[in-house]
Amino acid sequence: MLQNEKIIETNICRHCGSNFDITDKDLEFYKKISPVFPNPKRPVSLKETGLNWEKSPDSFFESGFKNLWNGKVKYLIPPPTLCPDCRQQRRLSFRNERKLYKRKCDFSGKDIISIYSPDKPYKVYEQKIWWGDKWEATDYGKDFDFGRWFFEQFESILLNVPRINLYVDKTCENCNFTNQITHCKNSYLIISCAESENCLYGKRVNNSIGCIDCFLANQCKYCYEWIDIFSCFNCFYIIKSISCKDCYFIYDCDWCSNCILSTNLKNKSFYIENIKYTPEEYKRRKEEIFKQNSIFYIKEKFEQIIKIAIQKNLNIKNCENVLGDFVQNSKNSFFVFDWENIENIKYAQFIQDTDNSYDLDYSCCNSSLSYEISTWWVNMFHCLFSIDIWPEAKNCYYCDSCISSSYLFWCIWLRNKSYCILNKQYTKEEYEKLVPKIIEHMMTPPKSPSIEGESWAIVKQGEQEWWEFFPSSLSPFGYNETVAQEYYPINPPVLRDIPLIKGDSQNGVEAGGFYYIDREWNTYNTLEEAWKRPVFKYSTYEAPFPKVEKIIPASKLPENIADIPDDILNWAIECEVTKKPFRIIKEELAFYRKHNLPIPRRHPDQRHLDRMSLRNPRHLYTRNCDKCGKEIQTTYAPERPEIVYCEECYNKEIY
Ligand SMILES: [Zn+2]
Ligand SMILES: [Zn+2]
Repeated sequence: MLQNEKIIETNICRHCGSNFDITDKDLEFYKKISPVFPNPKRPVSLKETGLNWEKSPDSFFESGFKNLWNGKVKYLIPPPTLCPDCRQQRRLSFRNERKLYKRKCDFSGKDIISIYSPDKPYKVYEQKIWWGDKWEATDYGKDFDFGRWFFEQFESILLNVPRINLYVDKTCENCNFTNQITHCKNSYLIISCAESENCLYGKRVNNSIGCIDCFLANQCKYCYEWIDIFSCFNCFYIIKSISCKDCYFIYDCDWCSNCILSTNLKNKSFYIENIKYTPEEYKRRKEEIFKQNSIFYIKEKFEQIIKIAIQKNLNIKNCENVLGDFVQNSKNSFFVFDWENIENIKYAQFIQDTDNSYDLDYSCCNSSLSYEISTWWVNMFHCLFSIDIWPEAKNCYYCDSCISSSYLFWCIWLRNKSYCILNKQYTKEEYEKLVPKIIEHMMTPPKSPSIEGESWAIVKQGEQEWWEFFPSSLSPFGYNETVAQEYYPINPPVLRDIPLIKGDSQNGVEAGGFYYIDREWNTYNTLEEAWKRPVFKYSTYEAPFPKVEKIIPASKLPENIADIPDDILNWAIECEVTKKPFRIIKEELAFYRKHNLPIPRRHPDQRHLDRMSLRNPRHLYTRNCDKCGKEIQTTYAPERPEIVYCEECYNKEIY
């Protein structure tokens, strides 16, 4: 909670059972973003909605709507029923970033790479076709059926409307094995990046050139193996640093050059293990270190010195009233992680240039007044409960992957459209008349025979899901394919030998490769059975590995790059951790040769997880400053051994 906020109620999450607070500011926010439509004359009464409004002390929330003076009605969004973590888990279960598969384009029959494995029941088109004019998403539009359950109707269009193979927009060139990128060139296996060139194996790398194996960076050139850096040049194995040059194995160093195995340095040059050398001594020592020790040994040593470095409780720069980690130039924001220029934001990660919004993952830029969104790009205004909203979206509610559109309701994969519902085109007047009716229908959903169930269910047929994000069971991916598995890992279920359950029987499509599983990973034989429970999907698809001349265990690789033959490009390496085979590409081999670096011994996915494990969890703990004893908020759990200082003590000690 931020300063000047008052807790109004404490709710119990209906998924995990933990308590979470709703403050006066939160209620104000939910009210502010609640959508407004012309009054359909007969607003539903409290009794008819069957919803549990009575917990909220706010009279507006009690009826679910508020008549406005200008003949309009505001459909009030009540406080969420899931805690912030469960809400994020649900959103992330819709985002497959890095599981890429070979499959055929369902339009041209061409072999393509896609985030949808070939066993999935969806139509997938290659880039050229999807962006072209040979098909039209509104051709798949449907009338809203007031006799049917709304998520059920949405699921049927989810299955039918063609999807783009990868979230790569038209501004990218030669980026065939990448996802969620824009304005990038000649890159391979980069995820969620913008305006970068010649980069390999990275996540969230923006405005950078020639960088490899990286996580979270901006404006960097020719760096290798790094996490959380800004404006660095020619650095190798570098974490949490700004404006550094020609450094190796440094942690929390800013404005440094020519440093090795050092931590907490500011504006320093020619340091090794935090000791100052003359340029000549430095050069000699550096040669010795790299000649006498293997990179893998130095890396291990580096991980040890990180543990004894001084940690600042939170990495917040130039902020006012902000609680979160790795945030700068921001104001009045709570539980926010990674990045900058935000104001009045809560529960968000990977976010930039956005204000007055809650519950966001992966968003940029110039956006406002939005809630429960996973992924949006540029100029978004008042979008709610949506996934992958691309540039210039306004007033889109419950949309999945819509581009440059406004006034959409329950739509998927539309481009440059307005006033559509379930992908069907309406006039403005028709749209404004129909949407309130649908909202009221959603507030009083048709009763179904399978209505009973536990109150904590994420998905429970017949129960209110209105003003909540899509249930995870609508995700096109298995939980194990998504980012949710990275942040909220769950062990694979013990799969019983049961037939996979059917998908949407109305459309005669079989859901392939999915088990529906609940929180305890029980599997279900039928969709009806699964829908009574809070379910995630679990994908069982394993992609066949491409043919290679041979597979070599990582431990058998010579460490000296000079001893590696060019032929390695035709081999696969067996990851030392997961045993999963992976390949080396030409560009990376050239980079390792140029900088005298060994071939990696771990699969790119494992390397990504290794980098993630060097970052702190997205959780705020209360502990005491290890210097002055003051109570601090930090992402270091109290039992962790690191030395954590409050901001004042850190600044006194380091600067
Ligand atoms: Zn929860
Ligand atoms: Zn202190």
